[in-house]
Amino acid sequence: MLAAFSVFFTQCPSFLEHQNLMKKKRGKDNAFSLFGLKKIPSDNQIRTLLDPIPATRVLGSFKTVWKWLTENKILNHFKYLDEQILLALDGTEYYSSKKINCPHCNCRHHRNGTTTYYHQVITPVIVAPDQKQVINLEPEFIRKQDGKTKQDCENAAIKRWLLRNPAAEKNQEITLLGDDLYSRQPICELAIEQGYNFIFVALASSHKSLYEWLEFLEKNR
Ligand SMILES: [Zn+2]
Repeated sequence: MLAAFSVFFTQCPSFLEHQNLMKKKRGKDNAFSLFGLKKIPSDNQIRTLLDPIPATRVLGSFKTVWKWLTENKILNHFKYLDEQILLALDGTEYYSSKKINCPHCNCRHHRNGTTTYYHQVITPVIVAPDQKQVINLEPEFIRKQDGKTKQDCENAAIKRWLLRNPAAEKNQEITLLGDDLYSRQPICELAIEQGYNFIFVALASSHKSLYEWLEFLEKNR
């Protein structure tokens, strides 16, 4: 696990480059002194060891980081708009293959008969206009749920995240930020129920009635 984690420290664009760097004499010293690795495992060995471990095993570290940031008053620098924390939600694809797949993969079926298997994730990130850094909170994975045959989607995943409500225990007013995908009545209602404020993009193309009302109100001011 430490070997996999060390990839993020070298910030190499590829795993192979990272391995080569770690294998060089100085890199080897780093591998040992920073991560306690006596031998650097191959990427195959890392996969064999990590694949059976569910991601939830390491999610506790997000809580540890939050606690540290609060205790050391770092989060105070991120407060904005009446002492709110701004939490940006967005989905991103982190795995895609035409061949390799697992029971949790979502699929895209193409016209030429091929299939793309993919995994996505929603990454809640604390942002502030005058801060260069961002702070990640625990992610919500967009993947076929256990025992379900239906594909998973960002809309369903954000509802799971809101129901799980991982930000609730943070004792802090939070404003969610999201694109047009989030500005749907069920999501907005759930967000309010769970105690969040929100600023979501509402495009005219997906909010016809809302824009008709706005137009009406503009005309009749
Ligand atoms: Zn998969």
